[in-house]
Amino acid sequence: MPVTCAIGLGSNLGDPRAQLARAFEGLSALPGTRLVARSSLYQSVAVGPTQPDYLNACALLHTSLEPLALLDQLQAIEQAHKRERLTHWGPRTLDLDLLLYGNQRIDLPRLTVPHAYLCERNFVLYPLHEIYPQACLPDGRTLASLLEQCTMKGLSRLETDAPDS
Ligand code: AMP
Repeated sequence: MPVTCAIGLGSNLGDPRAQLARAFEGLSALPGTRLVARSSLYQSVAVGPTQPDYLNACALLHTSLEPLALLDQLQAIEQAHKRERLTHWGPRTLDLDLLLYGNQRIDLPRLTVPHAYLCERNFVLYPLHEIYPQACLPDGRTLASLLEQCTMKGLSRLETDAPDS
């Protein structure tokens, strides 16, 4: 039985728009997985050291991959983009985060789900709400309730919906 998963995408090095377009292609090609929705692109001011703004988006998947197998696949897509990460929270060509895996709470050395950023980062909450407004966390909190507490400060939704347009 496929599980509904939410993925957060971010890029602020090279050509972020092209990176995200290729990342969506990579997600749609994952084994045992269907890309069911993708959000608009958002531009966000970077957290951490001074660096270019990010482009962010979210994807919704139906997958039969187990959580760690899905993480392996996400990391393989990141590596295919020759991801560079010189400093913690520094710029990166592509960052893929597993935000939600069904209604599961996962606490493994390599994988924490829901993702730690999910509840507090507007560049995750707004695009996710666009494609998965009914989302609910394992602790019962709704995405809608989290969004109520979260402003769009530093975040703007880009006019074009298609990442590769
Ligand atoms: P970052 O580059 O900051 O996204 O961190 C990547 C590291 O976070 C990797 O070593 C992953 O194993 C770990 N990680 C833990 N939880 C998650 C998650 N939900 N999604 C993606 N990476 C995760």
